[in-house]
Amino acid sequence: AIGDQSGRVIITSETKDKANNSDHFIKNKLHVWCRVTNGQWDLGYIQSISGDVVCVMLSNTDVIKVSMEEIFPANPNIFEGVEDLIQISYLNEPSLLYNLRVRFSKDLIYSKAGPVLIAVNPFKSVQIYGNQILSAYQKKALDSPHVYAVADAAYDEMMREEKNQSIIISGESGAGKTETAKYAIQYLEALGGGSFGVENEILKTNCILEAFGNAKTSRNDNSSRFGKLMEIHFSAKGKICGAKLETFLLEKSRVVQLSNGERSYHIFYELCAGASPILKERLRLKAASEYNYLNQSNCLTIDRIDDAYKFNKLMEAFNIVHIPPEYQERAFSLLAAVLWLGNVSFEVIDNENHVEVVADEAVTNVAMLMGCNSEDLMVVLSTCKLQAGRDCIAKRLTLRQATDMRDSLAKIIYASLFNWLVEQINTSLEVGRLRTGRAISILDIYGFESFKNNSFEQFCINYANERLQQHFNRHLFKLEQEEYEGDGIDWTKVEFKDNQECLNLIEKKPIGVVSLLDEESNFPKATDTTFANKLKQHLKTNSCFKGERGRGFRVSHYAGEVLYDTNGFLEKNRDPLHVDLIQLLSSCKCQLLNLFPTKMCHKSLNPTTFSDSMNQSVIRKFKGQLFKLMSKLEDTTPHFIRCIKPNLKQLPGIYEENHVLQQLRCCGVLEIVRISKSGYPTRMTHQELAVRFGFLLLDTEISQDPLSTSNAILKQYNLSHEMYQVGYTKIYLRTGQIGVLEERRKIV
Ligand code: ATP
Ligand code: MG
Repeated sequence: AIGDQSGRVIITSETKDKANNSDHFIKNKLHVWCRVTNGQWDLGYIQSISGDVVCVMLSNTDVIKVSMEEIFPANPNIFEGVEDLIQISYLNEPSLLYNLRVRFSKDLIYSKAGPVLIAVNPFKSVQIYGNQILSAYQKKALDSPHVYAVADAAYDEMMREEKNQSIIISGESGAGKTETAKYAIQYLEALGGGSFGVENEILKTNCILEAFGNAKTSRNDNSSRFGKLMEIHFSAKGKICGAKLETFLLEKSRVVQLSNGERSYHIFYELCAGASPILKERLRLKAASEYNYLNQSNCLTIDRIDDAYKFNKLMEAFNIVHIPPEYQERAFSLLAAVLWLGNVSFEVIDNENHVEVVADEAVTNVAMLMGCNSEDLMVVLSTCKLQAGRDCIAKRLTLRQATDMRDSLAKIIYASLFNWLVEQINTSLEVGRLRTGRAISILDIYGFESFKNNSFEQFCINYANERLQQHFNRHLFKLEQEEYEGDGIDWTKVEFKDNQECLNLIEKKPIGVVSLLDEESNFPKATDTTFANKLKQHLKTNSCFKGERGRGFRVSHYAGEVLYDTNGFLEKNRDPLHVDLIQLLSSCKCQLLNLFPTKMCHKSLNPTTFSDSMNQSVIRKFKGQLFKLMSKLEDTTPHFIRCIKPNLKQLPGIYEENHVLQQLRCCGVLEIVRISKSGYPTRMTHQELAVRFGFLLLDTEISQDPLSTSNAILKQYNLSHEMYQVGYTKIYLRTGQIGVLEERRKIV
């Protein structure tokens, strides 16, 4: 974690000492932040101190006694609601929280933390987008923090340095990543539009991706259930000439299983609500409420969302992306097939729980929609072929096995359809894609997750975040160093916390979680418990690992400790694809196989099961993708955006401090601040310093040379030498020093 779990990392010993010898604070009636009983922060004055106990008068004049630990120096008023958190003199959690709150209450949803943009989700429409604002940023008439400013900086740097750029957006579910990514694309489309015509397509592809890859969850009505990287290519003249989309780890289980109050992918409901009567007839389509896959969660609609309207929008987007009508209809057939699959039922025929498929409209509709023989389908769903010597015998499945087989077919169809769509989008966006060496990649990927129950999915997501965090740290550190060196000031190495140990835990060969998981997945007798035991046996020396009783293990991620339950890890990692299903799919009359890339069906038909995509386990494939992503990002200049969700209710105007704080910790904002704190966090140009503090200088002391003027000012204010450095363009002050200057300014 970033410092200790209580989060008291960013108070410096210096400021704490100051609070300790708090005469200064008492005498000058300086504000302090004080943690009151409900965990909230309040401003107050220190009245007296005895030992570790402080008497504080709060803003409502109540006097409370708290431990010194609960007190942090507050900032002078000039720092209220500053644009960049780095400008805050006393860098502590309550000050950061307060600053963001002040801005949020004025609808200033964007702030900066050094090089990082922070976006607090307003959950309402804020008048800060659209053509007028966009062109103001383009003309550099506006420069306050904004996603447009980030996109603009990326574009400028790409054009100037001919270097690829990336915009890396992270944050928890519902924090606003996807919306932010859309605004970034909107800006780039406006800037780089003109020549090739593709630029209007990029945003439109979002509509398709969201229909097929987003769903209502308990945390976000429009939650992306996959990660995505959109790479936009520019011509030498800076015009968009093509784009490429890459997706990561779609949540397949959602197709067949839903938690209460959540929905499956939007497309299913949109299709049921929006298909024309003719299409409905052809697809044998009924209302969403008729389908078991959709009606299991008591949630069929989303407030303020019209699924039929969305369906029409989707059809438009399909046309813009040039998906021919006959392909559109095939895609719809497959969706209907998936829905009908969920209604396929089984009848138990003996006392060993063996089943056969009930020959009703569900199964005949599936067969019709998939273009296969319904007898074959029924055989595949209720039996499995076993090799006995040279003979192949069919064995009946139990109810549980048959249900799994059915669900597994539904998931394969849906995942293949999704991948196929991504390919179609790519073909369409490819148009003028040249290898120009000018591209901006926008990454919208799931943020760090820690729930009560954490499984394989959370492990993959957190692994990806651990990698991104390393990238982030290294970049930030480099930037900091460059700024100091560039301004000619002494660079004393700031201590810098790496997360290499955690990455070693996950990916070291042959003894890391990934390798051990694959090893166990290949071992037929292994169970989730044997896997957990193996982890405990081999990884106990890693300081980021803690074994738990039973099937659990803990990992200390950079953003906090997560307890994982290995239940289901092996099965999810193997993601078995039954050979009988593959054979069935290849027997389908073109409907399916013409659509999908053939690789899925041409895998060596070896024994009973094999993993998705060329025998690769899910984690191995994910790791491979992640490495490719990281090496691509390494070749770019990164721009980071951290999205913050101000409350769990998804409502405007509510700023839940504890929830915001937790995210600031998780997404590394405090890390940025910590790194800055180790150096000289307050930076002012010589000009700025002279304007604010130079009024007492004698004429003779004001020099043409701004550098000497600054030196004179600092001397006059009697600031000690260790507390500042004077660079060519700016002065750099240690934490808290600007406060000292302000106080002395008031006295003189
Ligand atoms: P997930 O990880 O679940 O995909 P996300 O971070 O992508 O979540 P979004 O879908 O982008 O979250 O945002 C959730 C909702 O918050 C949006 O549907 C929208 O209502 C609101 N929202 C986000 N950003 C903004 C914004 N800049 N202005 C107005 N509303 C916003
Ligand atoms: Mg999203």
